[in-house]
Amino acid sequence: METTGFTENQMMVREAVSQICASFPNEYWREKDRAEQDPTEFHAALAAAGWLGIALPESLGGAGLGIAEATMMMQAIAESGAGMAGAQAIHANVYATQPLARFGSAAQLRETIPNIIAGRWRACFGVTEPDAGLDTLRLSTRAERAPDGSEYRITGQKIWITCAQVASRMILLARTAPRDERRPSEGLSLFCIPLDRAAPGLEVRGIRKMGGRAVDANEVFFDGYRVPASSLVGEEGRGFRMILHGMNAERCLLAGEALGLGYAALARAAEYASARVVFGRPIGANQGVAHPLADAYMRLEAAKLATYHAARLYDTAAAQAAGQTTGGTGPATAITQDAVGVAANSAKYLAAEAAFTACERAVLAHGGMGYAQEYDVERWFRECLVPRIAPVSREMILNYISERVLRLPRSY
Ligand SMILES: Cc1cc2nc3c(=O)[nH]c(=O)nc-3n(C[C@H](O)[C@H](O)[C@H](O)COP(=O)(O)OP(=O)(O)OC[C@H]3O[C@@H](n4cnc5c(N)ncnc54)[C@H](O)[C@@H]3O)c2cc1C
Repeated sequence: METTGFTENQMMVREAVSQICASFPNEYWREKDRAEQDPTEFHAALAAAGWLGIALPESLGGAGLGIAEATMMMQAIAESGAGMAGAQAIHANVYATQPLARFGSAAQLRETIPNIIAGRWRACFGVTEPDAGLDTLRLSTRAERAPDGSEYRITGQKIWITCAQVASRMILLARTAPRDERRPSEGLSLFCIPLDRAAPGLEVRGIRKMGGRAVDANEVFFDGYRVPASSLVGEEGRGFRMILHGMNAERCLLAGEALGLGYAALARAAEYASARVVFGRPIGANQGVAHPLADAYMRLEAAKLATYHAARLYDTAAAQAAGQTTGGTGPATAITQDAVGVAANSAKYLAAEAAFTACERAVLAHGGMGYAQEYDVERWFRECLVPRIAPVSREMILNYISERVLRLPRSY
């Protein structure tokens, strides 16, 4: 990647995180993927160096950096060869804690944040449901307050929840009031709940999947699962608005991860194309091999600009909301959440597509060896589909841009 133009902080993060990742080479990730084993040591190493609190305020024990630096951290992780597996072992601790840090009570923050930063607890993000899919506002998992107000009882099902087998806390979106057709985004509440897999009313079932097999993905069944009333984050019924903060941060991080994967695959392809000799010359001397790789590089670079632009808007909007000003070098106008949403969604889309192109071409440039596990490009290719699907699909981003930016009629 071309690193010109990044800030000192971003470059410091990139170098320090890459150094830690160097202790977890491709053999480590290949083996974790094969054995479907959690990269516990990797998570612990990043926690020990303080990186899990990168984008949390210093007052809570975090590093006080922004999503622009956190995105760089996630890119460095993926780019090291850890790919989406390494990123997924870490990222919910960074993005799911954003709405918590912003809207959680002092007691919630005191209890949760230091444990997450230190790596004693891991967090997962519980939004997707089998019957709602991308139509999040139709989710039906209910959290009912007990008559004496001391606890909530949760009933319903979540699906595809990453790390639910190792997490101690779930940032959960659940319904506390029936859906109101006039105000469909109301009635959903945000919780930070303990995940006690041995307690009655909670079952976590793994899903076997194509890539990123080192991290678990799960169906989570709640059947009257009891959590303390203090698990509610902020006001009841306002959860969807709160979670949007986490979602825009998540899109930026995912975009960074996709970039990392793409750059890793491309570097490996260039190395192989320089070394592999067929018909008496390196295969990279053929334009049919070189040009698709050069084209993939420029796609990644363009997506990189979109990604770090979105992350900067996210951070600047947060600073503006906190009343901080940047003087004459800052933006001329207030940055709206809509502008952040458009930039973050666009970045996630472009980075995921660029990563897919780079990973596919890296496999093809390796010929038969692209299909062999020892060259890693097959692992990254399997993983590069994740940013295309999650946390929001390509089609839904295209719908969003059509409707919100181009003002086209809503198609669904
Ligand atoms: C590896 C992995 C990890 C994940 N981790 C988490 C996690 O930790 N927490 C969590 O909450 N979720 C997680 N998810 C879930 C992920 O966010 C969802 O899979 C994703 O949002 C898509 O939802 P869905 O699978 O229900 O697709 P569906 O809603 O069933 O959609 C299926 C397809 O139809 C298309 N489609 C649907 N409606 C329209 C429309 N109106 N116009 C055009 N196209 C449409 C979609 O684009 C998609 O291609 C994860 C998923 C994966 C694969």
